[in-house]
Amino acid sequence: MSPVTHFFVGWAVANSVPTLEKRDRAWITLASVVPDIDGLGLIAEILTRNSTRPLNWWSDYHHILGHNIGFAVLFTTVAALFSRRKLATSILVFISFHLHLFCDLIGARGPDGDQWPIPYLRPFSTSTEWTWAGQWALNSWPNMLITAILIALASFLAIKRGYSPVEIFSRKADVAVVNALRRSKDRAVPQSF
Ligand SMILES: [Zn+2]
Repeated sequence: MSPVTHFFVGWAVANSVPTLEKRDRAWITLASVVPDIDGLGLIAEILTRNSTRPLNWWSDYHHILGHNIGFAVLFTTVAALFSRRKLATSILVFISFHLHLFCDLIGARGPDGDQWPIPYLRPFSTSTEWTWAGQWALNSWPNMLITAILIALASFLAIKRGYSPVEIFSRKADVAVVNALRRSKDRAVPQSF
């Protein structure tokens, strides 16, 4: 799925325990996006495409370096070190990370039909590669529907709890977003209701 969908999946997981702090929610949300860090090789690949020694980092490493149990354990360990509610955050970071792999498995077929098999046991073993025959395309309607539902959920939670995913980037912008959401809800629901 796209990084936007992964982001909102992570945010939903981060909000499953309402007592967590902002920092913990950020780690859990990041865990749902971070496997795609192995896609950053795309930049190097594009930049060196016409050189004598092209770097095929995207083709060679995307869906490999970050999409496995080794990276999940590494990232969960780092998150445990820097989070406040360490046990709850670590468990949710681990779940959030695995939801990324699950979402890729069910809905990330590339435009050329590539399934991007997930080498789950790396770096310990290369024996396993996950694919699912029913996998739908990256830009298909189920992904758009899931994303829309998750954004609606994030908006609902923002109105109720007073913070949105924007808090990860800016506290000030977050206050503005929450206020705007609350105002639009007040307009939608008559006062006498
Ligand atoms: Zn991915």
